[in-house]
Amino acid sequence: MDLFNFQTPRSIPELIAAKNSANAWLLAGGTDLIPQLKEDRRKAETIIDVKKIAAMTNISAEQDGGLNIGAAVTATTIAQSEIVCASYPALAYSVALIGSRQVQNRASLGGNVCNAAPSADAVPALMSYGALANIEGTKGKRSLMVEEIFTGPGRTVLEQDEVLASITLPALPENTAAVYQRFTPRREMDIAVAGVSSRITLDANSKIVDAKIALASVGPTPLRAKAAEMTLIGEVPSLKLFEAAGAAAASDASPIDDTRGSADYRRHLVSVLCRRTLASATKELIQGDLP
Ligand SMILES: Cc1cc2nc3c(=O)[nH]c(=O)nc-3n(C[C@H](O)[C@H](O)[C@H](O)COP(=O)(O)OP(=O)(O)OC[C@H]3O[C@@H](n4cnc5c(N)ncnc54)[C@H](O)[C@@H]3O)c2cc1C
Repeated sequence: MDLFNFQTPRSIPELIAAKNSANAWLLAGGTDLIPQLKEDRRKAETIIDVKKIAAMTNISAEQDGGLNIGAAVTATTIAQSEIVCASYPALAYSVALIGSRQVQNRASLGGNVCNAAPSADAVPALMSYGALANIEGTKGKRSLMVEEIFTGPGRTVLEQDEVLASITLPALPENTAAVYQRFTPRREMDIAVAGVSSRITLDANSKIVDAKIALASVGPTPLRAKAAEMTLIGEVPSLKLFEAAGAAAASDASPIDDTRGSADYRRHLVSVLCRRTLASATKELIQGDLP
């Protein structure tokens, strides 16, 4: 690792000014960045610590019932937040899967998004909740759906002068539930071979009126399973329906073969996890066994 300048801005404008130079990288928890620097996968002239910026380390309720989570808020803080656990439990669950307790005490939500790993555990839950990424730069502010951030493995749409300031989770309609599950050979300290987050909203007749399904580790970026979503809309939950959605999700995936699993195996995992997450989400909304 080469020598670098180290800066600790106290506000987002100071942060943007510091980031707007070649080879300047933000450091939140450093659980992705530090290994990348040590292994010479990143070159840094300037490292900028974001953890001293109050606006990026807070969780705050929005007036419309949504929630704003600063990009530098840690996985531990999110997993222990009463409001996240009550309103966005799939997110609380997914961040508690990241690495170990020690890693979660450092790892930030913004780092999980901006590192742009296809396997990032918090991202599918954010996508299925319809979360927005709030970006700030020298030209002003812009907000994108979280899934619009990614352009490839380790790559995002963020310009050199831009930072992810926060994530906004929208207020959810009544009768909505979401569940994230991943498959790893080991129970802990492992990366998802495949992950699925499914969120459904039911109407008063228990028909599915909205569905968002997001997939991890089965493409160059985290993906929405749009064909699977379409199979659900207007239908009443049933095991047969969720099997059909799982099959559609497997065709939405575009996995590769690698040391952790073949493309075929990953497609199979997606179909199983999709069915299971839909069934678990439904269980939270309606009593009794699925037909
Ligand atoms: C042992 C170990 C186990 C792990 N297990 C998992 C796992 O199970 N699941 C999982 O998803 N991940 C896992 N990870 C990866 C990592 O912990 C997570 O991705 C974590 O959320 C990264 O957050 P961070 O704050 O440490 O990011 P950092 O390392 O600080 O930053 C990551 C990248 O994002 C950029 N960045 C950070 N914040 C911003 C911002 N606000 N705006 C713009 N760019 C920003 C940085 O410049 C850097 O390029 C593991 C890592 C380790 C070391």
